[in-house]
Amino acid sequence: MSSLTVPVPASLLLPLKVPYRLMLGPGPSNVPPRILSAGGRPIIGHMHKEMFEIMDDIKKGIQYAFQTKNELTMAISGSGHAAMEAALYNAVERGETVLIGVNGIWGERAADISERMGADAKRLVKLPGECFTLQEIEQALSKHKPVLFFITHGESSTGIAHPLDGLGALCHKYNCLLLVDSVASLGGAPIYMDKQEIDILYSGSQKVLNAPPGTAPISFSERAKQKIFSRETKPVSFYLDMGWLANYWGCDGKPRVYHHTGPVSGFFALRESLAILAEQGLENNWKHHQEMALYLHQGLEKLGLKLFVKDKNLRLPTVTTIAVPEGYDWRDITAYIMKNYSMEITGGLGPSVGMVLRVGLMGYNCTKANADLVLQALGDALQHCQKSKV
Ligand code: PMP
Repeated sequence: MSSLTVPVPASLLLPLKVPYRLMLGPGPSNVPPRILSAGGRPIIGHMHKEMFEIMDDIKKGIQYAFQTKNELTMAISGSGHAAMEAALYNAVERGETVLIGVNGIWGERAADISERMGADAKRLVKLPGECFTLQEIEQALSKHKPVLFFITHGESSTGIAHPLDGLGALCHKYNCLLLVDSVASLGGAPIYMDKQEIDILYSGSQKVLNAPPGTAPISFSERAKQKIFSRETKPVSFYLDMGWLANYWGCDGKPRVYHHTGPVSGFFALRESLAILAEQGLENNWKHHQEMALYLHQGLEKLGLKLFVKDKNLRLPTVTTIAVPEGYDWRDITAYIMKNYSMEITGGLGPSVGMVLRVGLMGYNCTKANADLVLQALGDALQHCQKSKV
């Protein structure tokens, strides 16, 4: 008689089944074979010297992708949200005021995270698809005197690429750190961490970088470092404590000691994706994403669809938002395309649910052939998806 009260799960005795999907939504994107195979290399120890060399390469790759010379640069062991939490948990102390630009879901998330850790989150709010002017931000900075201002560069829920020029200097005039989310834009739209005076910048692995989800590049300026390392209280998270992580990533000049077991395979894959970015060149990549986005946008307009972001200069090249065509249910369209093309495109997220369809052409997926395929799938869906009776 077995002592077990929970039987063997029958489904686990069947082979793993993973369908092929063309991932043309806002992420994750498809992982090219070269990155998949890098992630499939045999495991080594997280504290082996070869692993530290790989981490050093990752750090250099992130410095290149971010265009920064910041010493405190690394990949967080976790998804984009973990990097968002690492930024806020380390740079802000309980009771301090932060100013959050909310023009889509990511600002809402940043405000939520700030409140959970006991910060006073002031929201600067715009409708989905809108941007903030420097004057509006300056007014809020002078009114609230926050220690940090959060803005999303590539707002993937609305399709906006928020202008960043002048923001860093403006924040610094008010003794405030600038925190920027580039999860959906890094590698596909220009960003210059040092030149634009961004204090904390983070991203994710699963979008333009085409690595599996689960690692998240992040970097801190000298100004951010000073604030973080002169805190009065410990950050609320041990796992995301930048004191420990700086050591793990060889950023503090001290011998590395065990903090946590990093995602070894995820780091192999991330190194490979940063190697590909280095081979292709950032500027080439930006240009290519811009050209493919324009091609897609023209094709969408030819289909009679309307782009959600009216101002061409504010459209995010990596994730395109399409206004849900009148008389259609967006769920029918995405379901039709999944069923008939095994292709993911998605509806909106957070405040943009019901307003938009979202198409991502990112990194390896950013090709004319994929743009053509998504246009064909959408044209087909428009013909076949019954118009609602409203
Ligand atoms: N910020 C932006 C702009 C994103 O697009 C995403 C992911 N869709 C995130 C943050 C969160 O990243 P993750 O899902 O990897 O936690």
